[in-house]
Amino acid sequence: MASPPHPLDLEPFVPTVLSHPAVPLAIGLALGSRVVSGRLLLAGVVASVLPDLDVIGFRLGIGYAHELGHRGFSHALPVALLVGAVAALFAGPLRSRRLTAFLFIALACASHGLLDMLTNGGLGVALAWPLSEQRFFFPVQVIEASPLSLHRFFGPAGLKVLKSEWLWVWLPAAALGLGLFIGRMAHRRLAGSTR
Ligand SMILES: [Zn+2]
Repeated sequence: MASPPHPLDLEPFVPTVLSHPAVPLAIGLALGSRVVSGRLLLAGVVASVLPDLDVIGFRLGIGYAHELGHRGFSHALPVALLVGAVAALFAGPLRSRRLTAFLFIALACASHGLLDMLTNGGLGVALAWPLSEQRFFFPVQVIEASPLSLHRFFGPAGLKVLKSEWLWVWLPAAALGLGLFIGRMAHRRLAGSTR
């Protein structure tokens, strides 16, 4: 009898770690380095992938559906707020205002779980932990689930995933960034003309 597949082989990891930073990068670059410093931008990229450190749980024998499992507590909105609060404590080294550090990092971290809720595979996200262990998906799941195992990722399945992430993560993030940038320029021009 064939041995059961390793849980990581079944595990959608999506959007891939490559795509989560699209959100902080788009917002940070659009707001400019005077609002989001290089250090804060880098911290935002880290915060956007941080929740997936929970895959360590698979190695420790923690089940996917467990609250400490993948897409469990680390993907929750209250935890994103906490990560933002920690960043606010380090506003000095991050060369940022406290409120900006809090908002930017909390948003980067929260965007991870929200993007995962758009994927078409795996279990949902424990968005409200510790208030609830319930796993959530959005009603529409447009992002193709990514296989974690590399040998499957570098095949037709991986290509499908990358295409779907360009369409549903990078393109909307770029549009959001462009919208913010145009808004910032328009605001600056307006402020200049009323001076
Ligand atoms: Zn995730």
